Amino acid sequence: MKRLLTVSLFALSVSAFAESTPHWAYEGKGGPDNWGKLSDTFATCKTGKYQSPIDIRHPFDATLPPLTLDFHTAAEKLVNNGHTLLVTAGDEDEFRLDDTTFILRQYHFHTPSENRINGKSFPLEAHFVHASENGDIAVLAVMFETGPENSALTPLLERLPKEKNREVSIDKRFNLRPLFPDDLHYYRFSGSLTTPPCTEGLRWIVMKNTVTLSEKQLETFKQALEHSNNRPLQPLNGRVIVQ
Ligand SMILES: [Zn+2]
Repeated sequence: MKRLLTVSLFALSVSAFAESTPHWAYEGKGGPDNWGKLSDTFATCKTGKYQSPIDIRHPFDATLPPLTLDFHTAAEKLVNNGHTLLVTAGDEDEFRLDDTTFILRQYHFHTPSENRINGKSFPLEAHFVHASENGDIAVLAVMFETGPENSALTPLLERLPKEKNREVSIDKRFNLRPLFPDDLHYYRFSGSLTTPPCTEGLRWIVMKNTVTLSEKQLETFKQALEHSNNRPLQPLNGRVIVQ
């Protein structure tokens, strides 16, 4: 079962690797406005009604308790796939939501942020992509502001591969805790992958509080990515955001 899950999620989340996947980008002809037209398999990018990212405003107060996360070491491989810097994770980190266990499969970064909070954009947003045993996906998003250096980014940024699509092993074990704010209260809503094929039905959990990275660390991200990698905001279409 786990193997099946790994394979299907890999196909979904790292589809940029597949040679049959049409070329998409963040600007030009392959840019976000055209994603839905590049391939039938990308149609949801255009026709979907519950797309991500969104501007998080007017949340409904459901008094959600803070998230319970069990932090471990969870880096295995790092790759710059031309769309993002992506870290594949082991099976060590998980959280419970809706009586379901979601296991961290990979995390990656967007600069500037994709989601906004009350219209505010952030210099960096991390997406921690989790999957349940039956293939449901939950993304935990964390916003970064510039300030003190983030110690959990250092082992990643020190190992950045120079070439695109070359995986490097993360041979150092480090704790992911500094990538999350102390206070784990969050906004929750339904959304999609923010990259083709823009699949819907994802549970989005966006942390209300931010963490920091240094200006120098942000610069390293920007140089590695060479371009902004944030999809434009998508309409809410009646979705409810709870907190
Ligand atoms: Zn993302």
